[in-house]
Amino acid sequence: VSKSKVTVVGSGNWGSVAAKLIASNTLKLNSFHDEVRMWVFEETLQTGEKLTDVINKTNENAKYLPGIKLGKNVIADPDLDNAVKDANMLVFVTPHQFMEGICKRLVGKVRGDVEAISLIKGMEVKMEGPCMISNLISEQLGINCSVLMGANIANEIAVEKFSEATVGYRDNREIAEQWVKLFSTPYFMVTPVQDVEGVELCGTLKNVVAIAAGFVDGLEMGNNTKAAIMRIGLREMRAFSKLLFSSVRDSTFFESCGVADVITTCLGGRNRKVAEAFARNGGKRSFDDLEAEMLQGQKLQGVSTAREVYEVLSHRGWLELFPLFATVHEICVGRLPPSAIVEYSEKKPRLS
Ligand code: NAD
Ligand code: 13P
Repeated sequence: VSKSKVTVVGSGNWGSVAAKLIASNTLKLNSFHDEVRMWVFEETLQTGEKLTDVINKTNENAKYLPGIKLGKNVIADPDLDNAVKDANMLVFVTPHQFMEGICKRLVGKVRGDVEAISLIKGMEVKMEGPCMISNLISEQLGINCSVLMGANIANEIAVEKFSEATVGYRDNREIAEQWVKLFSTPYFMVTPVQDVEGVELCGTLKNVVAIAAGFVDGLEMGNNTKAAIMRIGLREMRAFSKLLFSSVRDSTFFESCGVADVITTCLGGRNRKVAEAFARNGGKRSFDDLEAEMLQGQKLQGVSTAREVYEVLSHRGWLELFPLFATVHEICVGRLPPSAIVEYSEKKPRLS
């Protein structure tokens, strides 16, 4: 029986933890090659060393996940073509803004029968309309792409604290089961759901809600206000997802990728943290500035996602239907003050 080779494309905070999870399983399971390749966007650290060399020498990602051993069978590779060329299973996990460029570079470089999964929370907006990242991968590379999303703050999973996740798949249950096998550990419980768009939109849109929750924290509005923002946000997530794809299921919002990810991201995520600082500064310091200062190279997804969602809303005449999403973007770009987020919550909800 031939064994599957797995490559992880991306090596940030979550990318490194994903490689660790996968590598612990490929050692145990016969159907996978032990070695897990991890493509690293190469950079030189302050010490003058290359990040790839440090990972391969110390087995730790000193910049994005310091202090955590990834597993000896994780091999960092700065050469994208080389990292993907023999892979049967590709795990995409980079900040979403880099995926268009990465896909372009990968055209014709991957095996025709490769299966992919995206752990990326975000979307692109094209002339024709919104394009989910899994779709970008599928279309550009001509391959099938599932998704894995959930309440998954990477630093907590890195130290093996229990969490759940959701695999979204299109129609092939067997492939979904393969992904579940590859990711599941006693502390990481993965459930497959046949609703790829619903799962991916949950992961994508909750980052906008997290920005709103961060504003509420920065304004010191308290728990009830934050809970209201989370509830209204979840409702806008569902309404937006269903308007884009009528196949999206209500039950998906009760999986880890839905309500649970809204909760954890609004309590402990990076989007929340930076949005809190933005509101505390009265919107006077830009998100780019705060991100660079507070996240040491890690990337926010919520601010660009709010812009992408806003583009879709204005293009389709839906702005009135999604006051929370629209307000988050207007605050991010400085058209409204951070306090507008709660002025919204005093208004009557406009969605049924
Ligand atoms: P990150 O926020 O740590 O981002 C840094 C990564 O981006 C580094 O690997 C860096 O090398 C890379 N990078 C920088 N410039 C680049 C370029 N020009 N081209 C390609 N790569 C470049 O990344 P992450 O936390 O692994 O997040 C990846 C995805 O996973 C995001 O969509 C995020 O929403 C999602 N996610 C993150 C978490 C988390 O807790 N970190 C949890 C679940 C999902
Ligand atoms: P942040 O990017 O806001 O940290 O969210 C991480 C996440 O997606 C948790 O599931």
